[in-house]
Amino acid sequence: MMNDESKLSSHSLLVIRNSTLEMSLLDTKFGQGGIIITGVDEVINWARLSSLWPMGFGIACCAIEMMSTYTSGYDLDRFGIFPRPSPRQSDVMIVAGTVTFKMADRIKRLYEQMAEPRYVVSMGSCSNCGGPYWQHGYHVVKGVDRIIPVDVYVPGCPPRPETLIGGFLKLQEKIRKESLVEPKAIEKLMQKKTEV
Ligand code: SF4
Repeated sequence: MMNDESKLSSHSLLVIRNSTLEMSLLDTKFGQGGIIITGVDEVINWARLSSLWPMGFGIACCAIEMMSTYTSGYDLDRFGIFPRPSPRQSDVMIVAGTVTFKMADRIKRLYEQMAEPRYVVSMGSCSNCGGPYWQHGYHVVKGVDRIIPVDVYVPGCPPRPETLIGGFLKLQEKIRKESLVEPKAIEKLMQKKTEV
């Protein structure tokens, strides 16, 4: 694999494996051309994790911290994270706040309007498990994962912007390991291996 100082002359061949795509590209000086060989999964995952577009949507006090995270002080843009005004343009839903039964239907509908692949970040104790309303909040859903699947849970009441950024880094790790290969294909392959 390339080191930091490596330079590629024109028409060189670069073979990239094991999720080092972005670092290798950033650290490498290319000539006038070249070929890159890597896995489809790695390229697609890299593109997806480098352009996460959360829906601009918040339901309670945690949303204030979420909005601070979008400001210049925390600079989420450097991760390729930009809020979008429509669920149809978004691939991440940050559930920032208390999920009441009244809002639950709306949250589910917005989630279903998002394009695949879509991800959910549950931000704060309320969204994770009901938070301060856990015991006596008859009007609160005790965890948004009861209505939609959650990929990353961000703890806190409210979580600080740094914690939300940590949640995004976790989500990026998760996306990096995704595969387009159907699980069935892997099962078949494993069966063949055990037969041999
Ligand atoms: S977790 Fe705390 S800060 Fe966040 S919505 Fe609930 S009560 Fe508000």
